[in-house]
Amino acid sequence: MSGAYWQPEIETMAPAALRELQAARLRETIARAMQSPFYGECYGRLGLAPESIRTVDDVRRLPFTTKEDLRGHYPYGFLTVPPQETVRLHCSSGTTGNPTVIFHDRHDLDSWANLVARSMYCAGVRDSDVFQNICGYGLFTGGLGFQYGAEKLGALTIPAGAGNSRRQIKLMQDFGTSAIHAIPSYLPRLFDEFQALGLHPAEDTKLRIILTGAEPHSEETRQRLQEMFRCKVFNSFGLSEMNGPGVAFECDCRNGLHLWEDCFILEIVDPETLEPMPDGERGELVLTTLDRRAMPILRYRTRDLTSILPGPCPCGRTHRRIDRITGRSDDMFIVKGCNVFPIQVEKILMKIPEIGSDWLIVLDTVGDNDELLLKVEISPAHFTGDMEALERVRRRIIHEVRDEVLVSPHVQLLEPGALPKSEGKAQRVQDLRKKS
Ligand code: AMP
Ligand code: ZN
Repeated sequence: MSGAYWQPEIETMAPAALRELQAARLRETIARAMQSPFYGECYGRLGLAPESIRTVDDVRRLPFTTKEDLRGHYPYGFLTVPPQETVRLHCSSGTTGNPTVIFHDRHDLDSWANLVARSMYCAGVRDSDVFQNICGYGLFTGGLGFQYGAEKLGALTIPAGAGNSRRQIKLMQDFGTSAIHAIPSYLPRLFDEFQALGLHPAEDTKLRIILTGAEPHSEETRQRLQEMFRCKVFNSFGLSEMNGPGVAFECDCRNGLHLWEDCFILEIVDPETLEPMPDGERGELVLTTLDRRAMPILRYRTRDLTSILPGPCPCGRTHRRIDRITGRSDDMFIVKGCNVFPIQVEKILMKIPEIGSDWLIVLDTVGDNDELLLKVEISPAHFTGDMEALERVRRRIIHEVRDEVLVSPHVQLLEPGALPKSEGKAQRVQDLRKKS
């Protein structure tokens, strides 16, 4: 299939055939996993064997695997082969304790690149595109993951790396970049740089597609980015434990993300009871790898919250779609007795035109009480010194956030660029509260 990375025999497979393929691959995966110290011991103790799987629903008989399991058996406890037989490792983000490390052999890397190529094609990227990958290369999977996927697709691929917006823009202009991948918190900064140079991406580059993911972001953020760049923005979901990018991706309908069910088993469970949730209801995403050899992971509790979108997608792909991830169960914080997810605040801010690229929630103890302080950057275009206008914005934020999360925030408006920037994923919550 030259020039195309459309795999209709897999992507439009009849659901019953897809379930059969999954069951067969699940049996193979269990057999393989049992060669690792972790699953060998665990499944051996429970008397689980590949033959106990008749249909894919039998996956529910397996115990869950958690991040703590991965950390507790660091570094080699999940390997089914000697480390010498693997060819690459990646680590998941996270700041404390052992990282979660994932090993790949050649087959795994090839399978992953295939999924990323398929995902990019699904979003409309073609081998005629020039694709610039604007994110960290290294342990973060977005760099090499998209690099190898885009090469497999056949696009001219620019491994631009993170940051240095001016250089990014020069590369985009010099080589006719038509598709980029970057994390959502960086894209407004890139746009600000275009503006600072007196340029517009829609007029001064060939950009037509933006792929973005790795961080929770709302539909409002997508709208804002689309208006800024005047091109289509697609949501890309993945996690290092399941390779990285290429787990689930939006097609041109942009009504949820097709999760590649030939390579993963998709479950949504209630995070408290761990029982399956009906389609359409939000719960924790649980995933099982079906095409990974060096380090299969079964029933992994991702902590990511989403739902299965019912019904077929007009694009014809039969792999089920998940909804935008609204955050991780461990992102939630409790302030004044109310449960809050950062994305609830983000949604509000991204609808306010005067708000710029960056914001931060600071939780602190003042006297005996918790306080929620919102630090918000104003957009360069609205940073004009009109104090009355800014006061109206400040009041609007207080009102709308209070209505949404039931806690009245303090709001500090800041000049553009005032908040600290990182090259990787944005930190949206700083908790300075005294622990009692
Ligand atoms: P890492 O393995 O360090 O790359 O982090 C993976 C995590 O990033 C996932 O478990 C999600 O919490 C988050 N993530 C990745 N892609 C998205 C996305 N499109 N929307 C929301 N969160 C995402
Ligand atoms: Zn579709």
